[in-house]
Amino acid sequence: MTSLATAHDTVLVLNSGSSSVKYQLVDPVDGTPLASGLVERIGEDTGVVTHKHDGSVTKREQPIKNHTEALEVVLALFDEVGPNLAEAHIVAVGHRVVQGADVFAGPTLIDDQVQQDIAALSPLAPLHNPPNVEGIAVGRRLLAEVPHVAVFDTSFFRTLPPAAYTYALRKDVAEKYSVRRYGAHGTSHEFVSQEAARVLGRDAAELNTIVLHLGNGASASAVRGGVAVETSMGLTPLEGLVMGTRTGDIDPAVVFHLARNAGMDIEQIDHLFNKESGIKGLSGENDFRELHKLIAAGNEDAKLALDVYIHRLRKYIGAYFAVLGHVDVIAFTAGVGENDHVVRELVLEGLEPMGIEIDPAKNEPRSGDARIISTEQSRTTVMVVPTNEELAIARQVVDVISA
Ligand code: ADP
Repeated sequence: MTSLATAHDTVLVLNSGSSSVKYQLVDPVDGTPLASGLVERIGEDTGVVTHKHDGSVTKREQPIKNHTEALEVVLALFDEVGPNLAEAHIVAVGHRVVQGADVFAGPTLIDDQVQQDIAALSPLAPLHNPPNVEGIAVGRRLLAEVPHVAVFDTSFFRTLPPAAYTYALRKDVAEKYSVRRYGAHGTSHEFVSQEAARVLGRDAAELNTIVLHLGNGASASAVRGGVAVETSMGLTPLEGLVMGTRTGDIDPAVVFHLARNAGMDIEQIDHLFNKESGIKGLSGENDFRELHKLIAAGNEDAKLALDVYIHRLRKYIGAYFAVLGHVDVIAFTAGVGENDHVVRELVLEGLEPMGIEIDPAKNEPRSGDARIISTEQSRTTVMVVPTNEELAIARQVVDVISA
């Protein structure tokens, strides 16, 4: 496959959430972001747009009714502060889509049928696919002259073996309603596992890697020789690790208990588990910088929140050692994983008997580069590998339009 993209070509990557649109105009060859930004609070009284270009940040506050208005504002900002889209050689628009289920094996050129098929998967990702589809519809309307490509969060986890993706739920029900584990954050897990190998000068096919994507959403994966074999997210991104506002693993009987005894309906429980729980539910804050301040001030709730978060992560690391047999690399990524040395230290503390030894002098300094933070003796190499989902999406987009 030859790449269509040249050094001057760009891809506009869109990540449309329920009340936000993240975007980046990126050079898929060298990864340079030419502009990036975020529209927040869509549908609220005041929306906020932040547009970054050429070292300058432009911020606007204005009502933004819906995703159409959001993208119109973004396109107007490109016109006003740059870069000029007409001169940016956009070869395609890439849309991040959370749920591709077993319908989409990889990145896919979007036509009306594909758009409908993505919408049809909404019952499996009710919080994510509907806004993703809205972003696709608006994008195709306003940027009709270029191809649009959907890149799925689930694709990298299509290789999970049946033992890992099957829930022990009555077979006919599971089949009829497509209930199984699909995973999410796959674009990041794939990028980080490959990037870790690249930085080490190794072939990804030779390495067993545990990737810990710790952002506001958080997930872990076990990757054997470049192939994903286990991940912590399930039917939806709710399963697994403790997250900014999500419970992660919780006894499903808690749903029955709350429905029967707290008078909560399914929508309320869904909201509680996804938006009001996790670190925020335990401490009142979901940003780890604030969490650490609360802990330093002696706040017991914040301390417990961090303890629960770390404990869950350690359980997953232990489990993935058992899944993989041996682990060459543990790679931390995303907002918390890349920036929070305290979390990294606590997660791996006392695991020297498993062959994991962090070097504090390498772990503590801040850096935006991929780097090793373990000692020379550590059998497992521990790394911090900044994720770059926009670049990973842009590259998949170029693969599709070049095929
Ligand atoms: P997402 O893409 O899931 O929204 P990110 O990967 O951008 O999230 O991570 C955002 C989170 O990263 C923030 O909520 C915050 O908890 C954490 N974070 C960002 N910077 C730092 C930092 N310097 N120290 C600790 N945590 C940080």
